[in-house]
Amino acid sequence: MPLEEYKKKRDFRKTPEPDAAVKESGEKRIYVIQKHKATHLHYDLRLEFDGVLKSWALPKEPPKDEKTKRLAVMTEDHPIEYAEFEGIIPEGQYGAGKVEVWDTGTFGLEERSNEKIVANIHGKKLTGKYALIKLKPTARYPGENNWLFFKLKGG
Ligand code: MN
Repeated sequence: MPLEEYKKKRDFRKTPEPDAAVKESGEKRIYVIQKHKATHLHYDLRLEFDGVLKSWALPKEPPKDEKTKRLAVMTEDHPIEYAEFEGIIPEGQYGAGKVEVWDTGTFGLEERSNEKIVANIHGKKLTGKYALIKLKPTARYPGENNWLFFKLKGG
């Protein structure tokens, strides 16, 4: 079921975050990165696929140039409305802390498989072709949800 994990983690009577609904936004796909001052400051990258926002948490600032690759940990799908969410998630709630939009725009999908996504991002801070590559579990990064996020050369 779509967004099941998202719903399970949240109490919508207590958090100002949007309740879960699956819907398509239209021709242009949504791209957004939210800066999230939770226990650890991180950046939540979200890309619209299949009526939801596929989501990755980046422990460090997203790369604007081709020199830097960032770890991106895949998290639960979020509803489309979440792209515009800014506010404070209350203490005691999942992800408690301040959420603000760090960058937003649209993207064109260039490539998509289970291990690789190439998105042509049209944001204000990030522009051009970016790749997300799924990492095989290693001793340093065990687990199935680790990806690398980086700007493609010449992208
Ligand atoms: Mn977050």
